[in-house]
Amino acid sequence: MSYKTIDGKMHAKVIKKEIQNRVVSLKECGWIPRLVSITVGCPPPVCIYVDNQRRACEQVGIEFENRSYPDDVSQLELLAAIQVCNVDPRVTGVILQRPVPRQLNLSQLQNAIHPSKDVEGMNAKNIGNIVYGDYTLGPCTSLASVYLLRSTGLSLQGLEVVVVGHSEIVGKPIALLLVEELATVTICHHGTRNLSMHTRRADALFVAVGKPGLITGDMIKPDAAIIDIGINQIEEITPDGVHHTRIVGDVDMGTACDVAGWITPVPGGVGPVTVAMLLKNTVIALEKQKLRYEDAMR
Ligand code: NAP
Repeated sequence: MSYKTIDGKMHAKVIKKEIQNRVVSLKECGWIPRLVSITVGCPPPVCIYVDNQRRACEQVGIEFENRSYPDDVSQLELLAAIQVCNVDPRVTGVILQRPVPRQLNLSQLQNAIHPSKDVEGMNAKNIGNIVYGDYTLGPCTSLASVYLLRSTGLSLQGLEVVVVGHSEIVGKPIALLLVEELATVTICHHGTRNLSMHTRRADALFVAVGKPGLITGDMIKPDAAIIDIGINQIEEITPDGVHHTRIVGDVDMGTACDVAGWITPVPGGVGPVTVAMLLKNTVIALEKQKLRYEDAMR
């Protein structure tokens, strides 16, 4: 077992320290960062995300408020709630927590958040800017995943990268960010014919599917960097018959650790850095709002 752990908690701490200093500078000039979270119902994972975000915001001096709506809220009511945030100058960032109930059109809601307050980087304008090489307000998980790969010191130019999973929020933006860095990128999804043929030639492998054990050691190139984004809750029974749940990624650690060069643990890898990127985006959004205001006043 010679792999190195990519310590997300440690990297998140470093990012938060930098954010804390930027928050102090903004507050000194009277600009108060305030993140409003919008939740619909409160499925257990969402409550955990919101608590984590609240705690992280408090650590760096960002004000945090959660506005919750019932499961049966209509699209129009939520669009109106988002509009209230868009026009309120005291609200400097907005995040819509997922999942939302099926009756709601998620992408319409995400696009209703004004691009200047879209700290999750999911408005088409912000996500589209990645194509132009501007990822100042990019999607948090993809920024976090690429940050962690960069932390290994591997040169991204010419690197063979495979991304498993092509969701709008994770897989696709990761691929675009890496192409920007001149990596050679392959994207795999459920239409991919022979997944292991691709994963075995990856110098860096990103996995964002949500299937525990999808990637096993025999699918990994020796010394590859593995960025495991998946979060899965599994049920286990101890030898003495006790049931308990555990959080694991999409990579089978038991076999992967004998082959890989670097691995992000789950939990403690991409998750904490994703939250740190949300804080960073919140500060970037406010810094841009301040600049625009100062330009307009000139
Ligand atoms: P998602 O929208 O469900 O996307 C999953 C992707 O996996 C889809 O592109 C799907 O392709 C692909 N896929 C499904 N089965 C596959 C297979 N057998 N082989 C290859 N690809 C397959 O999920 P997501 O929002 O991207 O999240 C993915 C995972 O990351 C989840 O476990 C989620 O909890 C986790 N996550 C973690 C963080 C974090 O901060 N650590 C943040 C966000 C998400 P098709 O659409 O073609 O079926």
